[in-house]
Amino acid sequence: AQSRYADLRGLPAVGTCGTRVELYMNAGLMADLPSLEGSGAEGVGLFRTELQFLIRSHVPRRGELAGLYARVMDNAKGKPVHFRTLDIGSDKVLPYMKPQDEPNPAMGWRAIRVGLDKRGILRMQLQALIRAAVGRPLHVMFPFIADMGEYEDAYRILMQELSREQKLGREMPSDIRVGAMLETPSLAFAPKRFFEMCDFISIGGNDLKQFFYAADRENERVRRRYDTLNTPFLNLIQQIVQRCEDARVPLSFCGEDAGRPIEALTLAALGVRRLSMRPASIGPVKHLIRRVSISELRQVIDQAMAEGKTSLRGPVTDWLARQ
Ligand code: PEP
Ligand code: MG
Repeated sequence: AQSRYADLRGLPAVGTCGTRVELYMNAGLMADLPSLEGSGAEGVGLFRTELQFLIRSHVPRRGELAGLYARVMDNAKGKPVHFRTLDIGSDKVLPYMKPQDEPNPAMGWRAIRVGLDKRGILRMQLQALIRAAVGRPLHVMFPFIADMGEYEDAYRILMQELSREQKLGREMPSDIRVGAMLETPSLAFAPKRFFEMCDFISIGGNDLKQFFYAADRENERVRRRYDTLNTPFLNLIQQIVQRCEDARVPLSFCGEDAGRPIEALTLAALGVRRLSMRPASIGPVKHLIRRVSISELRQVIDQAMAEGKTSLRGPVTDWLARQ
């Protein structure tokens, strides 16, 4: 499928109205990196770091991780890579961690909650990232932040590790950008200061949607019950866009919906101008974006919302069929 879109590789994702959308890819393995060139992605919007922890029988050593992260950055050839710190929990059990017997693992002890309780692992991972960057920009993203305090704690730990590495005389990253994943509805209502503290924010749409609708993303019976294009969820997205614009913080979306052309177009029309997706989705999404006017779609959406439509899927697909 990639080759069908090969001609688009070097072209920007820009609508006929001139609206520019940045398309990034999601990754998690060294083997994903060649796709960065093949897909024409502008960088890695989400690098899931779990896998390196899941495939070993022991906690990976700092040196091993630093080597791996450095190779990821080498292969990205100057394009930004947003490293998400460990998102594990009782649904993704590490072989060397005592399994937690939790009734609701997705809402349990996971991601940054583990990181802040087991600081040794978080610190070690941050040290590895800092050592890997040497003289290059470093992008760190903290997962599953549910309130501002968690972000402040994680941020402080990162700053401590930076100054420790500096005191050890190591070469520092040339720039450091820190952000949060917005995956719980609560974070959309955080104080303005939170948004101002972030260099970027990325919506984890898979989790955000499951918690917004209280519908387990792993449960086939309920998973598809609430469509992404239903207006309540899009209203939430719209509010997040507004809050990020007010604080002048760049916003991206990195859940599976970013790679679905109609959903991607709708997100772009609502003002989410950076989308991160599977490499194979970049061609189809870019192809569609380049054929339409995103600002005209925005008017269609505003009108449908004003009319009290419960879903935008109909209005958006009808409009697309007329293009
Ligand atoms: C998400 O929740 O949308 C996300 C990108 O993170 P993950 O799918 O790894 O939970
Ligand atoms: Mg998530």
